[in-house]
Amino acid sequence: MEIPIDGGDSISESEGGDLDEDGFPWVSFSDEEAIDRTVGDDSERESFASEFYRSGTEWSCLIDSKEKKLVQADLFRMWGFKRPSQVQEGSSSRVSSKKMRRSDGGDRSIGPAKKGSVGGNNRPRICPFYKKIPGTSFTVDAFRYGRIDGCLAYFLTHFHGDHYGGLNKGWSHGPIYCTPLTARLVKMCLSVNPQYICPLELNVEYIIEGIKVTMLEANHCPGAALIHFGLHDGQSYLHTGDFRACKQMQSYPILLNKRIDVLYLDTTYCNPKYKFPLREEVVNFVVKIARNSLENRPKTLIVVGAYSIGKEHVYLSISQELGVPIYTNASRRRILQSFGWHELSGKLSSDGHSTPLHVLPLPHLRHENLKQYLRTQGQSFTSVLAFRPTGWTFSESIGSQLDRIRPNSNGNVVIYGVPYSEHSSFTELREFVQFLKPKKIIPTVNVGNAAHRDQMQSYFRQWKLDAARKEGAHFYHPGPKFVTDRGLNGKIQNGSRKE
Ligand SMILES: [Zn+2]
Repeated sequence: MEIPIDGGDSISESEGGDLDEDGFPWVSFSDEEAIDRTVGDDSERESFASEFYRSGTEWSCLIDSKEKKLVQADLFRMWGFKRPSQVQEGSSSRVSSKKMRRSDGGDRSIGPAKKGSVGGNNRPRICPFYKKIPGTSFTVDAFRYGRIDGCLAYFLTHFHGDHYGGLNKGWSHGPIYCTPLTARLVKMCLSVNPQYICPLELNVEYIIEGIKVTMLEANHCPGAALIHFGLHDGQSYLHTGDFRACKQMQSYPILLNKRIDVLYLDTTYCNPKYKFPLREEVVNFVVKIARNSLENRPKTLIVVGAYSIGKEHVYLSISQELGVPIYTNASRRRILQSFGWHELSGKLSSDGHSTPLHVLPLPHLRHENLKQYLRTQGQSFTSVLAFRPTGWTFSESIGSQLDRIRPNSNGNVVIYGVPYSEHSSFTELREFVQFLKPKKIIPTVNVGNAAHRDQMQSYFRQWKLDAARKEGAHFYHPGPKFVTDRGLNGKIQNGSRKE
């Protein structure tokens, strides 16, 4: 079944296949404008621009600024792969039949891959280096590049279009590893041959191609996972996919008191201006507004905007608190039922007239669209109260004072933009990084602009310095080089300086 899936909620890369000199996707002028619209205002853009040409390429290293800069070519060499070159579509390399097994037993054979091309676009695309896991034959969220030379396992962090893009029923490039919920969606919505779909349970360690792999709850959309890779040589990498960092992650056994060498980080909101409130606070606010509205105008239609998946907690909470079912179309109902969440499935209704709570695609939430939608509802409703839950609606002037949010009203349609984000705020990112103390951070979102990468790198350095100062002044050495490291007890080891 082909269903309209909107493209996730972050801008991660351009549609073109070219990479810039740092190995990141080349951003065309229009793409860059789009990113600037989402990341910074005009004054920030000027300062970004002024830094653009002097920005270095040490963005991925959490090393002292006095450390010799690593140019990108060195990074490629260090991680054991060549600087990317044009990938030939339908190259002769083939993914061989491999096995994965749970480290506690269990086994599964993966069929041999067949030749094929990525559907829908014949332009060769080059997989950016940050989608490859060094020292492994793995890639993460890299489906739009067709067959990737040397890749034996394609990992999918979650089912948002900007991550699974390129996956379709013709996929034959190799096994796809993801959580069971994501696996169901890949099969149901994209008709990918089940032979290639390999579900991995959360919190279970698997051995794949000799590498330890563990999926962890990412607190993003249903089925989203952080992926932890443990290599033969003791190196460990964490790929966050898209995630919203939370306190609970600090109790994950595989992260607690363990060293992370490289953190692939969702940097969607890696800008200090993003300090949105906890999701629970936003949900409480939405429920309060909805309740008041229904009490004052019983014929109000409440509309919640949502992507294909994500934001379920917003409308489920309204449903639970106000005791009303949730109406949405058959495609979305099918997707929601596939989650296996009985509480949610039990609330779904196929009759729009029987409930004042409707879920519509987020881009549909415009005054004209909603007025037209209201007309299709006959006499059941006389006005619309709509919620657009997304971090992009965050306003610095409102901060966490949700009561200061002013809706956008036009006639009998009222739209609230509410800062309900399924990505980490800047402060949550900082806390997560300071907890994890990775040796290196590789940003994975908003990386198409060297100035943004440079800016993010400066934040990472500051976080590291602040954390070191908090741990105790004796851990902070303004000497020639200091690499953050942790021993078995999880504390920064004094003297872990590496020359
Ligand atoms: Zn996402």
